[in-house]
Amino acid sequence: MRLVFLGPPGAGKGTQAKRLAAEKQIAHISTGDMLRAAVQQGSELGKRVKSIMDAGQLVPDELIVEIIRERIQQADCAHGYILDGFPRTVPQAEALQAMLTSLESGLDAVLLFEVDSDAVLRRLASRRAEENRVDDSAEVQLERLRVYQQQTAPLIAFYDNREMLTRVDASGDIEDVYRTMNEAIG
Ligand code: AMP
Repeated sequence: MRLVFLGPPGAGKGTQAKRLAAEKQIAHISTGDMLRAAVQQGSELGKRVKSIMDAGQLVPDELIVEIIRERIQQADCAHGYILDGFPRTVPQAEALQAMLTSLESGLDAVLLFEVDSDAVLRRLASRRAEENRVDDSAEVQLERLRVYQQQTAPLIAFYDNREMLTRVDASGDIEDVYRTMNEAIG
């Protein structure tokens, strides 16, 4: 099973992705986690992306597309994967389509985690308190929301037009959303 999880920061995609990936024994590919690990290791990639991430902006499409191209061909992806945080722009989505076609593969579904903006802001505030992430100051979180609206939200129409989009009401608690998500993927 190959899935894309789409939704604003704070929609709870990461939590749901981790759990579903463990249950289905497929890979959980979080580009944000991969980039944060690179920053922590101080690798070339990490040095290149740190200031971009700290500002709540998106790293260049070419760079993230290459990371995904390598990642989805690793052995643990053979039975499927959840892409959590990728694609985030229309060019990334187009690159993913082309990549999957060339690998004679395809997506089973794109799940859109929908939650109203008040709930997003509440969740982000509690995540700030819990995780103490460097890219999670209130100011940066607002910038990431703005970037989502501007650059990532167009993917809703992109996948809807291709009849690949499934909407998941993500406003409930973790258990509710998990149940709704499972029903959505059948
Ligand atoms: P996340 O944990 O998914 O919210 O990602 C944290 C940060 O990593 C984002 O704010 C971006 O700076 C960067 N990032 C993660 N995924 C992508 C992507 N697909 N395209 C561009 N930047 C990304």
